[in-house]
Amino acid sequence: MNILVINCGSSSLKFQLIHSETESVLAKGLCERIGIDGRLVYQPADGAKETTDAAMPTHKEAIQMVLDALMNEKTGVIKSLDEVGAVGHRLVHGGEKFASSAIITDDMMKAVEECNDLAPLHNPANIIGVNACKALMPNTPMVGVFDTAFHQTMPKEAYIYGLPYRYYEEFKVRKYGFHGTSHSFVSKKAAEILGKPLESLKTIVCHLGNGSSICAVNGGKSVDTSMGLTPLEGVMMGTRSGSIDPAIMEFIAKKENLDIDGIMNILNKESGVYGLSGVSSDFRDLENAAAEGNDKAKLAREAFCYQVAKIVGSYAAAMNGVDVIAFTAGVGENDGLVRKDICKYLGYLGLEYDEASTNVRGKEAYVSTQDSKVKALLIPTNEELAIARETLALVTK
Ligand code: AMP
Repeated sequence: MNILVINCGSSSLKFQLIHSETESVLAKGLCERIGIDGRLVYQPADGAKETTDAAMPTHKEAIQMVLDALMNEKTGVIKSLDEVGAVGHRLVHGGEKFASSAIITDDMMKAVEECNDLAPLHNPANIIGVNACKALMPNTPMVGVFDTAFHQTMPKEAYIYGLPYRYYEEFKVRKYGFHGTSHSFVSKKAAEILGKPLESLKTIVCHLGNGSSICAVNGGKSVDTSMGLTPLEGVMMGTRSGSIDPAIMEFIAKKENLDIDGIMNILNKESGVYGLSGVSSDFRDLENAAAEGNDKAKLAREAFCYQVAKIVGSYAAAMNGVDVIAFTAGVGENDGLVRKDICKYLGYLGLEYDEASTNVRGKEAYVSTQDSKVKALLIPTNEELAIARETLALVTK
């Protein structure tokens, strides 16, 4: 079966058409600048990347363009929409309502909508994508795969905040966590690579990208994760502050005469390694600037590595041990110096770093020596494939 995987943002849409038996990508691409002017980037598996500028006033036109490209006589990979067996949608926030992926129905989407205030930037865009797809493919089964679902196994002491309890009861203020599809995929892969049952392993997944989160996976279940009610909590990220003393918000607001929106903008868009370095949110730029002697760039990457290592240590404590630490996503897969600087802190756990891994990027590899008591691995994440697998499992149930 061919499965169309859709990941909708507010003005963009990423897609992949995946053949479920071979798990090969038949075509992929993205629509950008939806509602502004519109651009489609389309790449069939054995063809060149094409870019087409075309009006996309809404996500519906964007999805229509994707379907047209997939069926294009010359560069398409299918002849008709009948060849799309199912659609898997990435949905960001399922609140406490969804502990697993779910077949998309009207009632199910109502429940997703009720989680909108928990992810006001993401969920409405996801819902628009689902509705646009349903309008164009009314008879194709669709599945929603949530970023938050994997973390619903966290125990209460891990997800509750030290706030008046009524905020949890009335408004569902708690830690939810994100990147769940990636943490689940990578922790399963780590067990496969080690040749051990997932149920027997204590794993810490470091998903380090533009957004970064770390997850403690005990026996295949998420037991803690660094992002919280929103993706702002945890380690500092590309432009996000991560966890800070909450009183800093009031302090800066007074000094700079900012309202809450102004403060949130600073914490989400002007902070992290970008804010610290004043150089860039991209670790390639930071590495270059640090190598050229830029002290703030050096500090930003050092502070990032320190924060990641501290969370890894706390999760080893939470699980009373750790067997394997996996690095994934843009930074985790490609930046060997970041992996090395994080592993430097973890010798006390029994992790012996393998210098030869520093230059490896983008493929499965050992980051620790083979004899290391605690293993470290580089595992490329593949959220689209994970969504396709979940979709297949539910539509063939
Ligand atoms: P993601 O959010 O997972 O797509 O990760 C994107 C981030 O990965 C970029 O902002 C960079 O910081 C980082 N990245 C990608 N390629 C490299 C590389 N070759 N070296 C260092 N960092 C990289």
